[in-house]
Amino acid sequence: MTTTPTTMPELFGSLVFTEETMQQRLSPASYKAWKKCITDGTSLDISIANEIAEAMKQWAVEHGATHFTHWFQPMTGVTAEKHDSFISPIGGGKIVMEFSGKELVRGEPDASSFPSGGLRATFEARGYTAWDPTSFAFIKDDSLCIPTIFCSYSGEALDKKMPLLRSMDLVSRQAVRILRLFGDTETKRVVPQVGPEQEYFLIDKRGYAQREDLRMCGRTLFGAKPPKGQELEDHYFGAIRPRVAAYMKELDEELWKVGVLSKTKHNEVAPCQHEMAPIFSDANTACDHNQLAMELMKRVADHHDLVCLLHEKPFAGVNGSGKHDNWSLGTDTGKNLLKPGSTPSQNAQFLLFLAAFIKGVDEYQDFLRATVAFAGNDHRLGAQEAPPAVLSIFLGDELNAVVESIINGTEYTDAGKRTLEVGVDVLPAIRQDNTDRNRTSPMAFTGNKFEFRMLGSSQSISGPNIALNTIMAEELEQFADQLEKAKDFTSELQILIRKTFSEHRRIIFNGNGYDDAWIKEAEKRGLSNLTSTADALPAYTSPKNIELFTRHGIYTKSEIEARAEIHIENYTTTISIEANTMVDMIQHQILPAVSGYATDLSERANAKAAIGAACKYETATAKKISDLTDKLMEAEEKLEKDLGKIPADSRKAMDFTHKTIISDMVAARKYADELESLTAKDYWPFPVYSDLLFYI
Ligand code: ADP
Ligand code: MG
Repeated sequence: MTTTPTTMPELFGSLVFTEETMQQRLSPASYKAWKKCITDGTSLDISIANEIAEAMKQWAVEHGATHFTHWFQPMTGVTAEKHDSFISPIGGGKIVMEFSGKELVRGEPDASSFPSGGLRATFEARGYTAWDPTSFAFIKDDSLCIPTIFCSYSGEALDKKMPLLRSMDLVSRQAVRILRLFGDTETKRVVPQVGPEQEYFLIDKRGYAQREDLRMCGRTLFGAKPPKGQELEDHYFGAIRPRVAAYMKELDEELWKVGVLSKTKHNEVAPCQHEMAPIFSDANTACDHNQLAMELMKRVADHHDLVCLLHEKPFAGVNGSGKHDNWSLGTDTGKNLLKPGSTPSQNAQFLLFLAAFIKGVDEYQDFLRATVAFAGNDHRLGAQEAPPAVLSIFLGDELNAVVESIINGTEYTDAGKRTLEVGVDVLPAIRQDNTDRNRTSPMAFTGNKFEFRMLGSSQSISGPNIALNTIMAEELEQFADQLEKAKDFTSELQILIRKTFSEHRRIIFNGNGYDDAWIKEAEKRGLSNLTSTADALPAYTSPKNIELFTRHGIYTKSEIEARAEIHIENYTTTISIEANTMVDMIQHQILPAVSGYATDLSERANAKAAIGAACKYETATAKKISDLTDKLMEAEEKLEKDLGKIPADSRKAMDFTHKTIISDMVAARKYADELESLTAKDYWPFPVYSDLLFYI
């Protein structure tokens, strides 16, 4: 057995089969073959796979593992695993621990119960998982977890990793072409780098257990506004309470053990809301680690009698939770391509990457919007607590002035007034924006990266990053095609950058995104305002978007259609579960409770009247409650009836759910919340917001 780590460097990654461990435990030839497989995408010989498997198993067993599992990311948005033990009988009632190269590189889980969006109807139910050697294996729950892709019998992606890896390769190829034009002969690979900031709520387990809505839907379907919400703003960055601090400490340790670079923790705006941010890494690792982080956040909470809520909007009236996807492009030589440089050539290169990004976001704003569209996120986007549903890019004052100067050919006002010539001038220093003033922007440039802020807290970050990578690759390809043919590179570059900024200026917005005036202005500019999931999801399969993803081999037509179908079905399913939970709680908890209370009040009124005592409070309250009770019953009946009318066709079902079921739910909630504020505490059937949000 290995010794328990005592120092941080020992603890960090102690449950990861890291590159260093591989180097120690593999023969030089096998290590080199693995390395080549990572850098050049070559496949592994079975004898080498066997050696790696054996080394992995030995290491895992030394660390207490008894099982192995392929760890994959099906379209459920959460991870999946199927554990097999290492045991193999050798006769005489004895076993040995075995793990072969074949088991390492390939698995065959039954795919029939994972969402496939129709792909499985045409193919065998069987799915395949295949090792992703670019993401390290790790131990969780005494199981060796092997990150894998998941595809159908005929090789179609059924998961969130396979297309992400494809998009990373693509953007690397196109970015390298651009770098060559600027005389960079060294860079072999460009890697999208991602740092996802993760928000979450922590509440007491007892309160959670008593709320069917939290258990079934991860959010409250009822709840009158508590006397105190987040008005005082006393929670944001406030001192962390001991119980939460203990949770965060254990979470950090668990994350560090599996190699997640958890860096920052703090309280967020809403009561009980917190954030964890890791240090950025390559997009594939960041995506795996974010999935792991979400899982561990929930698990560790349990040890502290807490529950971690990752839903985008667990409580009405206080802020919901999002995820900020910080994205940039880094080279294998350690350069960040979104960092303004210090020489004219570096600046020109930066401006070209910036132009590509701006053009891409403008042209595929609808698709980016669709990647963050799902039922939970509808509560946040455009609700004055998260960016609006309209995509725009925030550049900050300095960079915006540079872009304007290039577009207009006008003087740029920094220390000395001058016009800026791309490729000839150096850029003024562009400060890294560390302020919160641009929180309202869905896509903010923050000095050396873009921060895509529309993501919901519960979602996989894979989809949005696939989109960012692919869009960027598309624009870089167009630029490279043009510039590679240029006779005079610098002048053609100038023209291209200026033209791109001019044509896509409409997507740049540096003002307050929460302002209603912006939405009007955005519409005038022709930006798409897809306010809900039902509006946004059809963008997945618009001809322009299908064309982009199929041409680059990120998705086949059937893969992208299947994905859209999964998201569409998921929307209706999610809302239906919420609506059914609502019906259940109204019928079995709220109506009986308020009826009992009104009856008790009436009886008290009668008793008081019998002795000639005043009973205005009892009578008036009983009457108000009874009126609302009937209204709530009617609203619940309408909701139940409408649930029976959801059309079979998935698109129609989504639209019907969006229009009818949601408004039924809003109506029912209104009566229920009024009843809550009229009903004595002892009679109300479950904990209310002030119990849930202020439990310590
Ligand atoms: P904040 O947004 O709270 O000011 P930072 O901007 O420092 O904090 O970092 C937020 C997240 O962005 C972190 O996960 C960080 O690792 C990540 N990040 C920092 N630089 C980059 C980069 N070049 N590319 C991608 N992510 C980055
Ligand atoms: Mg940030």
